[in-house]
Amino acid sequence: MPDLSIRNLHATIDGAEILRGIDLDIDRGSVHAIMGPNGSGKSTLAHVLMGHPAYEVTDGSITFRGTDVLELEPDERSRLGIFLAFQYPSAIPGVTVANFLRMAVNAHRRGPDGEGNPIRIPEFRKLLQENMELLKIDRSMTSRYLNDGFSGGEKKRVEILQMAILRPQLAVMDETDSGLDIDALRIVSEGVNQLAGPEMGVLVITHYARLLHYIKPDVIHVLVDGRIARTGGPELADELERDGYAAFGVDEEAIPVG
Ligand code: ADP
Ligand code: MG
Repeated sequence: MPDLSIRNLHATIDGAEILRGIDLDIDRGSVHAIMGPNGSGKSTLAHVLMGHPAYEVTDGSITFRGTDVLELEPDERSRLGIFLAFQYPSAIPGVTVANFLRMAVNAHRRGPDGEGNPIRIPEFRKLLQENMELLKIDRSMTSRYLNDGFSGGEKKRVEILQMAILRPQLAVMDETDSGLDIDALRIVSEGVNQLAGPEMGVLVITHYARLLHYIKPDVIHVLVDGRIARTGGPELADELERDGYAAFGVDEEAIPVG
C-alpha cells in the first residue's frame, strides 16, 4: 500500500478550478517528481497537500498512511509526517536559526491534545550538531537570525536542515522556476539525496528538468492543466528537456537546462 494516495482530487481557488482530477500514489521511501508548464497547478497541489486555506477541495481524497489528510489542520499534517518546504521562506529577525528549529521540533513533539513535551537543550544541541555535520553546514549559521539577509542558497540550507531534523516521512518540495540558482539547486539536491531513503519519500515539484540531473526520481509525472497527463521513469526527464511540453499540447520553449 502506498504511503500517500491521492484520488480524483479537484481543487479551486477563488472559484476557479485548478486541479481537475489528480490521481497519485507515492510508496514509502520513493522519490517522485512532478513537472509541468507554468500555471499547470504544481504549486496548487503542494498547497492543497499542506492545507493552505485559500484553496478549496471540491472532490476527491488524500490519504497518508491510512489517515484522511483533508480532515486535518496544516500543523496536524506536519505532525503526521508530511513536510512542505516553503518556496518563499520568510525572514524572522530576532529569531535565530537554532531557536526556530527548536520551536519546530517542539511543535512536532506536542501531542494531539496540544500537550507540550519540549526537547531538552542538550538533546536538541546534539540533534542539531549531528544534522549539521551530515549536511556539512557551518556552525555559524545557527546563531544568525532566520533568513535575515540570507542568500537563496542559505535559505535552502536552513530548509534542508529543518527537514533533516524533523525527518518527515514525506517531504514535498516546490521549487519555483525563478530563485533557484545553481548553488541552491546543489544544496537542495545534495540534501535530498542524503536524506531520502527507506523512511523518507520525496515529492519534488519543478518546472525545470535540470533539477533532475541532480535528484534522480524513481517516477516522474507530468502535470498539464490540472491533470496528470503522463507518468514515467527517469528517462522522461531527458525527453522533456529535449522536447519541452510540446507533446502535451503546450506551446513552450524546450525546458531550459541551466
Ligand atoms: P504552477 O505552480 O504549475 O506554475 P500554480 O499552481 O501556481 O501553477 O497556478 C495554477 C493556476 O492557478 C494558474 O493558472 C494561476 O493563474 C491560477 N491562479 C492562482 N491564483 C489564482 C486566483 N486567486 N484566482 C484564480 N486563479 C488563480
Ligand atoms: Mg509553482
